Amino acid sequence: MSNNKHGLSRHIPKDIKLEIRRNSKFGCVICRCAFYQYEHITPEFHDAQEHDPNNMCLLCGHCHDKVTRGMLSKQTVKQKYIDIQQSTDIKKPFDDIDINHNNISVKLGSCLFKYSKCLISLDGISVLNIEPPEEDSSFPVLSGFFSDDDGNELFSINKNEWQGSNDAWDTEVVGNEIIIRTSKNKIALHLRILPPESIEVVELDMRIGQSHIILTEDELKIGRITPTAEYYVGIGSLECLGADIGVFVDSKNTPRPNLTGIRMAGGEGIDIQGTGIKLCVGSTCSMTIKELRIEDANKMRTIITECPLTSSLECTTTIHPPRL
Ligand SMILES: [Zn+2]
Repeated sequence: MSNNKHGLSRHIPKDIKLEIRRNSKFGCVICRCAFYQYEHITPEFHDAQEHDPNNMCLLCGHCHDKVTRGMLSKQTVKQKYIDIQQSTDIKKPFDDIDINHNNISVKLGSCLFKYSKCLISLDGISVLNIEPPEEDSSFPVLSGFFSDDDGNELFSINKNEWQGSNDAWDTEVVGNEIIIRTSKNKIALHLRILPPESIEVVELDMRIGQSHIILTEDELKIGRITPTAEYYVGIGSLECLGADIGVFVDSKNTPRPNLTGIRMAGGEGIDIQGTGIKLCVGSTCSMTIKELRIEDANKMRTIITECPLTSSLECTTTIHPPRL
């Protein structure tokens, strides 16, 4: 719902957003943070008749809060916006990082994705996406979806634009590392940039609804948590080139995951049948996968199936005491 006097929609057209990003040199005009929101400087949104790029800029959540609390004036924001446009030596966010290549490869623990359009897609939502920087920016274009431990959405980042409440998050950009926290002690995403064309995901822990995606030392684990059971597929050592989607999860059409087999088909990637999980989806991708581990735990028992995916394709299943 728009709370604008003139009925102006909150939706900002794409070309206007791009102009604001260019004018702001792709970062918060106050602190240069690379995650931001689109701010109406003057007039404020409820009085604005249009989305005017001359009177709008990029502000990060922290700086936006300072404006709301009256600690930072609109005049200062406006002046900084003008300074940034006029100056020729304004620092780009992440200015000293050399990651301008078009072919970014992303390492998620022991899994490597090269040229993937989307890394992780869950029920149609792209929960993690890392793309090459936009023109004149040296910061990668990041999209992610972040929630609390019960799977409720806290905030999301859509192509570096912060969406959601400002107090639910914290980001830290130190040297070549980006850390996003969903609470004081909980790191949801920790990235390390390795010039010239590699990004390493050091930590990842995302819960969306009942789905859970977590990076451990030697596996990328994709799972489902219900009140009585937990179910994980762990992928160890995967190399995926050119996929449309690296990891695809369809939880809505898989109410009770039940592994029935593993199928590989040209153009469809690996289908871990019965679980709603597919890997390396896309018509022109290639992949190498060395290990799969399937964990199915409830209050009675834990079943672990290990599939080394060697030439013999033999899996072993063992039943363990309950871990829940
Ligand atoms: Zn800022």
